[in-house]
Amino acid sequence: MKIMTLDESPYSAAFGIKMAPLGSLAGRGGAASFGRVLPGGESTPHQHDEAEAFVILKGEGELVVDNVIHSVGPGSVAVFEPFETHTLRNPGSVPLEFLDLYGRDPARAAKAARNSGKERFADRPVFVFSTPPTPNGDLHLGHLSGPYFGADVFVRFQRMNGVEAYHLTGSDDFQSYVASRAREEDTEPLRIAEHYCAEIRATLSLMDIMVDQFTVTGTDPAYREGLQAFFSRLVGSSAVQRRKDAALFDGETREYLYEVDVGGLCPSCSARTGGNICEECGEPNLCVDIVKPKSRLSAAEPALGTAERYSLPLHDFRDTVLAHHRIGKVSPRLQDLARRVFARGEVHLPVTHPAEWGVPPVEPVEGRQVIWVWPEMAYGFLHGIAELGRRHGRGWSADAPQRNWKIVHFFGYDNSFYHTILYPVLYALAYPDWSCDIEYNVNEFYLLDGKKFSTSRRHAIWGKDILSPDTVDSVRYYLALTRGETERTNFELESCQAVISETLIGRWQTWLNGLGGLVASHFDGHAPDAGVWSPIQSAFLGRLQTRLDAIAIHYGADGFSLNGVMRELNGLVDDVIHFTTTHQCLSGNSAAYDEWRTVVALELAAARLLAQCAAPVMPRFAGKLAEAIGADGATSHWADQVTLLPPGARIMLAEACFFAVPGAASSGHAGQTVRSARSC
Ligand SMILES: [Zn+2]
Repeated sequence: MKIMTLDESPYSAAFGIKMAPLGSLAGRGGAASFGRVLPGGESTPHQHDEAEAFVILKGEGELVVDNVIHSVGPGSVAVFEPFETHTLRNPGSVPLEFLDLYGRDPARAAKAARNSGKERFADRPVFVFSTPPTPNGDLHLGHLSGPYFGADVFVRFQRMNGVEAYHLTGSDDFQSYVASRAREEDTEPLRIAEHYCAEIRATLSLMDIMVDQFTVTGTDPAYREGLQAFFSRLVGSSAVQRRKDAALFDGETREYLYEVDVGGLCPSCSARTGGNICEECGEPNLCVDIVKPKSRLSAAEPALGTAERYSLPLHDFRDTVLAHHRIGKVSPRLQDLARRVFARGEVHLPVTHPAEWGVPPVEPVEGRQVIWVWPEMAYGFLHGIAELGRRHGRGWSADAPQRNWKIVHFFGYDNSFYHTILYPVLYALAYPDWSCDIEYNVNEFYLLDGKKFSTSRRHAIWGKDILSPDTVDSVRYYLALTRGETERTNFELESCQAVISETLIGRWQTWLNGLGGLVASHFDGHAPDAGVWSPIQSAFLGRLQTRLDAIAIHYGADGFSLNGVMRELNGLVDDVIHFTTTHQCLSGNSAAYDEWRTVVALELAAARLLAQCAAPVMPRFAGKLAEAIGADGATSHWADQVTLLPPGARIMLAEACFFAVPGAASSGHAGQTVRSARSC
């Protein structure tokens, strides 16, 4: 026997607090430690595969799990599942002492891993944002394949799982690109914004992207005042202050240069960059540090001067950002961006700029300045939540964000700095008690024929060129299969058409039509009951279940990947075609009738599974398929088990037409309507 005491055990620093290991307790790595959190201290949030229990022995504390605070005291026991993020803190005046018990249970860890983040989304509103598009042009396939499609599918899947999830986006009217477009067309920025905002909404609707809140920043009546109040909070934090720094001006017109009006080489990676952000490396620039800067306002060499702007000392907030990144989902590339930005030393980031187009702060400024549109967006997200709440009778306020809000962002890599570094800092300054809980889903560029899609150069296939009620699911299928998730990918119309016609029509639809014909001719158009199961057939059921489990992980918050979903869906159809072909010879064998009807029941179970699993990504197809096999509920609720159709269900698949190949759109003709080739 060994007796250990709280006071005499050897403590050392671990997880941001003091721990004294007490040794192993049982097999499989079970062990215990004493833990001590000093007054004002807290443990570092972290996740691990071990299950764990805290038994509080002395003092009072707070446990923070999924951003919810639970009070604990002597006698409290908290049990954590594997991978659950937890923090123990001590707001009191005496040390908080606890016994920590932990151990590995592979089955428990595997079960938790398969949930793909489900627990973090339960019993709380989940606000899923796709970056508000800039209304200086319509949406092309590059845009659509990225944040908008990602957020739409994410929300559809979460809702099938009973989560209160909403998709929010809007029109980011105050972008300098809108003012630039207005200058080119000799009109007012607001007219440009209103025109393209309407086009963008129409295109989102053609793509079947459901949006629950669409904030139009230029015309929303409460937006301007709310934004100014948010900015005043930043200034009130005293971190954001007026500061005179070097700035760049046009050599001829003397106008202030930033964003769209200046370009050159990135000071960090030397790639071509515009003002303020580099699309290649994702790092911000200050315009004055751009190598070989060129003004877009005149041919003259840009001139160096000074400007007094409100500015944020970004370098002071490294720990804020890193602590925030420990809580939710942040990809390795985003973590690396934070490392690079904070390795740069002092970065005084202006958050107001001399400009006409935008919302001025109420605080005094030098000349005419506006709140920079990127910090503005940090407020825009909260404003969107408040507006959504107003319409749904919920008391959500942009001025009092709540700890139980779960925010999920979808954005392109070029916006990473703003979303994952700047916004958490601004939120920490504006709402020190909030502790925002945000997860990030970033996509990489989708290229068109090897080059970046470009609105300004009209190198694009526009959503309206290719989307129609007949083709939308085919397009969603192809974009899901090929969109850039961890690396840049390329879109080619011919390859898109070939894949749709060979795979979606040639395999998926051909299989479903064939199955319908077979049920019509052998089973009078009704689903047969399964009969006798051979080992090969029960193995096939197991294989369908494995596909379902894999697809749930790819749709889930932790493993979200539409490329992954589509690989599995194609695999599912391949599996079933192979299974059917193998069993074809049973169809004419009356002695094997009971096994034969099991084959058909399994095929119908696979069709039901396909309807369920395709529902978030191809909702029209899934709805039609579910209807054709009498399984309407398959698309509204996510079942965790493969289910056979009820015997006798009416099957109307033989003539069903699910897909069409989008027609040949030529790039460069916005708004051109393209006739789709129907396959049936
Ligand atoms: Zn760069």
